[in-house]
Amino acid sequence: MRVLFLKDLWNLFFPDLCCACHKQLIRNETLLCVHCRHDLPFAGLSNLKENSLERSFYGRLPITSATALFTFHKKGKIQQLIHLLKYQNRQDIGVFMGTLLSRELLESDRFKDIDLVLPVPLHPKQFKKRGYNQLTLFGKEMAKNLKCPYEEKILIRTASAKTQTKSRRTDRFRNTSLSFEVTDCSLLENKHVLLVDDVITTGATMEACCSALLKTKNVQLSIAAIACPQEYSI
Ligand SMILES: [Zn+2]
Repeated sequence: MRVLFLKDLWNLFFPDLCCACHKQLIRNETLLCVHCRHDLPFAGLSNLKENSLERSFYGRLPITSATALFTFHKKGKIQQLIHLLKYQNRQDIGVFMGTLLSRELLESDRFKDIDLVLPVPLHPKQFKKRGYNQLTLFGKEMAKNLKCPYEEKILIRTASAKTQTKSRRTDRFRNTSLSFEVTDCSLLENKHVLLVDDVITTGATMEACCSALLKTKNVQLSIAAIACPQEYSI
């Protein structure tokens, strides 16, 4: 009772706000208010074989399945949530997204035999600046629910990613394709790997990561992201 009173008093001066609309949260609401929670733009791809996100990789990557939890709109709720996750160390948002996405994967028979979850790695300089990889708690939550290990040290980023955002798409692919390496291929052999990222846009980063992973014998790859552009949704 006393603890509750102190929390109420704390909330009076420092109220928790909805991460999307910034209205004050009421008791039992976390991260998002009920309205925003019911208004999330789910992409509806996880259970859909040959969905448009998967098709966008045809001819580029031999992936087994691909999905994204939400569609991404400029200045929309998901952009705000990902911004908080990426730049404000709100990894509780990653856990929330990981819970929702793994629930979708477990309800689908397309991701049943995942052996390992790997995040798209940050460049060491980016990691040093940010202090964390925004995918860590998201990926760990996914792995926990899929009952498999989560590994951050197998796929690493090696070259500079500095020119990525400014260069044209072809140049960007050339840059990122050079910047990923697998530290120990034996850990991937005969495994079905789920590669996770926050947002898939052109797919160039995924393509570069997968190219590095596919140098291993008998590795099977699937892809899952928090969000993708609206054009991929159903
Ligand atoms: Zn809200």
